[in-house]
Amino acid sequence: MIPEFCPRCGTELGERRVDGRRRKWCPACERPEFRNPVPVAGVSVVDGTGRVLLVRRGVEPWRGEWSTPAGHLEVEEEPRVAAARELREETGLAVDPADLVLLEVTQLEPVGEKHALSVGYAAAAADATGTPVAGSDAAAVEWVDREAVEERAVRPHVPRRVDAAVAALLD
Ligand SMILES: [Zn+2]
Repeated sequence: MIPEFCPRCGTELGERRVDGRRRKWCPACERPEFRNPVPVAGVSVVDGTGRVLLVRRGVEPWRGEWSTPAGHLEVEEEPRVAAARELREETGLAVDPADLVLLEVTQLEPVGEKHALSVGYAAAAADATGTPVAGSDAAAVEWVDREAVEERAVRPHVPRRVDAAVAALLD
């Protein structure tokens, strides 16, 4: 959400050009209200045949969408630790954060006014322990092949990262 009022003093925000961009500005505090992307991290788990673990989201936004496990970083949490935690929370699979392979760091297409900077990792199913079962925020968990990823995933970063994960782990 773009704030209308200053989060520090409650004064209605105006606008001013700061650092080359038009920004919200508090006339009382005499400072801009910066907008920044929110960091998230996720992991594409690939098995020996190239299938990948997808979760179906059970909550908004993107309720019903198939995606790779991902979520917000907690304060003071390293991205790879967050990715492993989200995997465990959503699917029950456990991986050592040290075993995750970095794929890319990119902005995702915005959802409304929410902009996310996403850190994408790959993990080999052989390095994971546990049996997949839908956990928090997830309505279903399933191993699917590359074709099904293309059919089900709405957002373009998902098949792109699955391809990168397969290339990093299997090729
Ligand atoms: Zn203010």
